[in-house]
Amino acid sequence: MYEFQYHKIESVDDAARLFNASEEARYLAGGMTLLPTMKQRLASPDVLIDLGGIASLSGIEKHDNTIVIGAMTTHAEVAASALVQRSIPALSELASVIGDPQVRNKGTLGGSIANSDPAADYPAAVLGLNAQIQTNKRVLSADEFFIDMFETALEEDELVINVSFPVPAAAAYKKFPNPASGYAIVGVFIANTTEGIRVAITGAGGCVFRSIDMEKALSNEFTSESIKDIKTDADALNEDIHASAEYRAHLIGVMAQRAVESL
Ligand SMILES: Cc1cc2nc3c(=O)[nH]c(=O)nc-3n(C[C@H](O)[C@H](O)[C@H](O)COP(=O)(O)OP(=O)(O)OC[C@H]3O[C@@H](n4cnc5c(N)ncnc54)[C@H](O)[C@@H]3O)c2cc1C
Repeated sequence: MYEFQYHKIESVDDAARLFNASEEARYLAGGMTLLPTMKQRLASPDVLIDLGGIASLSGIEKHDNTIVIGAMTTHAEVAASALVQRSIPALSELASVIGDPQVRNKGTLGGSIANSDPAADYPAAVLGLNAQIQTNKRVLSADEFFIDMFETALEEDELVINVSFPVPAAAAYKKFPNPASGYAIVGVFIANTTEGIRVAITGAGGCVFRSIDMEKALSNEFTSESIKDIKTDADALNEDIHASAEYRAHLIGVMAQRAVESL
């Protein structure tokens, strides 16, 4: 490691003020991605602003028909929450299959979506449920939040405060995990929301995306049969040592059908 300043602050205002007073600051959540990135010298912030002391960033509440989860809430807390289990069981199940117990005890919802890793699980639920992302500056819809690989609509100093998940009539998440890390080689989240059926796919492309073809087919007839012939173009998909683009395209169909069947 090289030298940097570490600040643990207690308010969102202090976080933003400190960020803007520094040359190259970074917010620190659980450090699950940021610290390894710094160790590999892929990021070299001069100031780390630890969000762990801001109490208002953690916790899970229900407001009307929406579950609001603070950005610093860990995956383990979401998985164990009776409120989430009752209201959106697919979300608690998704959180329970992220990484391993160490990752789930340190990793946070805010860190996961701010990072927009193409293989992360949470973006599928955020987009599938059309959640709203509250930042220290504005409210962003899931449709406008995820832009590309490791790229979101967040400005450099913008802080995720919480995410509001509308409770769906029904939802399911199925993923084909990387056996080493648990990250999604492909994960599909399907939800029956007040705005209709939404299908969000993670792991396969630059960032999470929707399958409009599957949404239309499932809106006409909610059966796995109705989507079995829908193919995703492999040209736009990721290819790496874990899976070819063609294999990912195939997995999208399989995971989507499994999600529908589980509903
Ligand atoms: C071994 C391993 C296995 C994993 N497996 C999975 C998996 O199966 N599925 C999965 O989805 N994920 C997986 N992850 C990722 C993990 O779950 C974390 O969500 C991810 O690493 C982010 O970590 P963090 O919350 O600690 O954020 P950090 O690492 O602290 O921060 C990540 C980035 O987000 C920014 N940030 C953090 N919080 C905020 C905020 N509130 N507002 C704005 N910016 C913010 C930081 O500045 C930084 O740029 C895995 C990670 C590891 C190390």
